[in-house]
Amino acid sequence: MGKERLIVIGAGVTGSAIARDASMRGIPTTVIESGEIGGGTSGRFHSMLQSGARYVVTDTEYAAECMQERKISERIASFARVDTEGLFVLFEDDDPKFGDRFAESCAVAGIPAKWLDSSEIAAREPNIAASQGGFVVPDAVFHPWEMVPAIAASAISHGAEFLTHTRAVSIESTGSTISGVIVEDESGTRWTVAADCVVISAGTWSPSLGESVGLNIDVETAKGSMLVVHQEMVNSVVNRCRQPQSFDIAVPLNGSTVFGTTSVIVHSPDDTEVSTEELEQLRAELKKFIPTTATMDESQWNSYAGVRPLVSAAPGEGGAVSRKHAVFAGEVAGVLGVVGGSFSTHRAMAEDVVDRVASQLGVRQESRTAFEALAPATNVVWSDNAPMQRRGIALAS
Ligand SMILES: Cc1cc2nc3c(=O)[nH]c(=O)nc-3n(C[C@H](O)[C@H](O)[C@H](O)COP(=O)(O)OP(=O)(O)OC[C@H]3O[C@@H](n4cnc5c(N)ncnc54)[C@H](O)[C@@H]3O)c2cc1C
Repeated sequence: MGKERLIVIGAGVTGSAIARDASMRGIPTTVIESGEIGGGTSGRFHSMLQSGARYVVTDTEYAAECMQERKISERIASFARVDTEGLFVLFEDDDPKFGDRFAESCAVAGIPAKWLDSSEIAAREPNIAASQGGFVVPDAVFHPWEMVPAIAASAISHGAEFLTHTRAVSIESTGSTISGVIVEDESGTRWTVAADCVVISAGTWSPSLGESVGLNIDVETAKGSMLVVHQEMVNSVVNRCRQPQSFDIAVPLNGSTVFGTTSVIVHSPDDTEVSTEELEQLRAELKKFIPTTATMDESQWNSYAGVRPLVSAAPGEGGAVSRKHAVFAGEVAGVLGVVGGSFSTHRAMAEDVVDRVASQLGVRQESRTAFEALAPATNVVWSDNAPMQRRGIALAS
């Protein structure tokens, strides 16, 4: 294999979007993915296209970025989203003062939020618990199994290459100069792919790859488990209007309702088992959130979990884990790591990273991903190895 200029490690939504942005700017790009495209956290999330309202009180800047990306997705990915709207509902025991702060913060972040009284909420969402009222915001739902392959297919159409079932073992450098990435296929065969730039976008798996070149990618691995009821119990994405915490979101997804999440710090990014305790909590909390589920047959419900690649709290930030993305650079020039952010902000994350790659490589083209529409990928072969989300996506050649 000849010298590749950019190697992207990980083909989740972030790595696929980086490959798309880079190849659209004419940067030869190879993506190394140990499993299948979208087989990591990007196939195991809550599927909300966030307006930003969920974090608007705690992180107004991140919320404004979500709103911006939500508008862009209308232009470039309308086929992969459903405009359900979102409700932020004050249940009877929620603090109305949080509602005041929520409305003020939405105004600052540019998120339209309209108050609905309790009868209007009940008319829109007859299954949820009684409320004091709530706000309607422009949240939506993403179909990950449409979005990630569309991004990857677009990257491929611009010349990017995806090596799936190929694991990046370590990054090689001579002094502060990068030389390549050692990769291994499923038979154990190893070889080196030469590179001028490497982006580690391996989500929660990123820290160990950074270590091979002394790059400290600080990630907090928080598992979130979700419960799936195979019936649409809500019409909009319904959030509780309170400080973000566990068990406060119900998402209508393809005829089902996905309720969650938990938040448990785990030591391995591969720890995606839903524990019995989490399952019991999810079932109990769902029945409070949507009382009509109390009479349903629980044995028909499924669950799944994903691990969030969050940026660890910086010293002085009071322990709050940020929702914003962070780009890490170390002593080896041309090696970057990117974690944090969300599915909703993947495009902006990719643009930020590729701006830095382009600067390193002397490429002057600017990002076009906010303007050039994606198209549904037509050559997708589904993998059936997951209970809920279609976890792995292979693009047929
Ligand atoms: C419970 C939960 C709910 C969430 N809900 C939402 C939501 O509703 N809305 C939203 O916007 N965001 C949500 N998120 C966040 C969002 O899912 C993630 O931010 C996003 O999917 C991360 O994508 P990624 O590409 O960075 O990581 P991943 O999708 O994990 O991709 C990393 C890839 O790297 C690959 N990889 C790992 N190691 C190697 C290696 N050595 N060599 C090669 N490849 C490797 C993995 O196989 C994987 O495919 C949620 C997250 C969780 C956990």
